[in-house]
Amino acid sequence: MFLKPKHLKVLFPLFLVFILIFTGCTITVKTSGNNSNSNTEVDNLKVHYIDIGQGDSVLIQYKDKNMLIDAGPRSSSDKLVKYLKDIGVNKINIVVATHPHEDHIGGIVAVLNNFPVEKFYAPQKTNNTKTFEKMVSTLKEKNLKINVAKKGVSLDFHSDIKAEMLAPNSENYENINNYSAVVKLNYGENSFLFMGDAEKISEKEIVQKNLDLKSDVIKLGHHGSSTSSSKEFLDKVDAKYAIISCAKGNDYGHPHKEIVEDMKNRNITVYRTDLQGDIVITSDGKNIKSDK
Ligand SMILES: [Zn+2]
Repeated sequence: MFLKPKHLKVLFPLFLVFILIFTGCTITVKTSGNNSNSNTEVDNLKVHYIDIGQGDSVLIQYKDKNMLIDAGPRSSSDKLVKYLKDIGVNKINIVVATHPHEDHIGGIVAVLNNFPVEKFYAPQKTNNTKTFEKMVSTLKEKNLKINVAKKGVSLDFHSDIKAEMLAPNSENYENINNYSAVVKLNYGENSFLFMGDAEKISEKEIVQKNLDLKSDVIKLGHHGSSTSSSKEFLDKVDAKYAIISCAKGNDYGHPHKEIVEDMKNRNITVYRTDLQGDIVITSDGKNIKSDK
């Protein structure tokens, strides 16, 4: 039997369709095979709220990048350095010293002496203390300049993550807490807010700037003190999780009971370093998971 040209005209398109279906199937099989072998853990963002007693220290890890926001008091330096070494940190790309109080910058000297640091940020505010002077002299020794932390500064952390400072918005405050660098981090659909010790004055300035404050997770300002976390600010943040970093039985009564009560009323899940120790929150860009 011979195929005439008019038969070929009909059969050739059918043959093409067959080839397309066949190769399409092959590609599908290959793709699903790759997915089952991929390690999603590597791509996750990890935020460690480290239990350094009364103070703040947060490590943000993504792929091979590390960012440290505050380093707790000097008395917890050994614990902080050990924690960072235990999770495999060997270099810190960005260190943010939110404001020059001992419970936030006391551990910076130990961090600088134990890890290479690429970039350092602090607000334009000095403090007449030995801790502050030692931090500045160690930065000089390491040839690190202080980049000014203020509203609008964007942090070059990783191209998958937007990290921006929302405060400080002014140059002069009565209370040092309000100089706190406030950092917002966006990864996929998830967002994290780090308040330092920013109080209601700074919160009001941030609200007035009409910035996008909505965040899944907020590290509450000033260790859960009622000097921070105004209702208007928390309304805009609309968080699902709140972290309070403080020591058990601290002298300041942190966290203040009205703040704990407010979290309950808002149905916000609270994690506390004084009660739960180190807290690690993981995000895959869509979902948030806590290890506690
Ligand atoms: Zn503090």
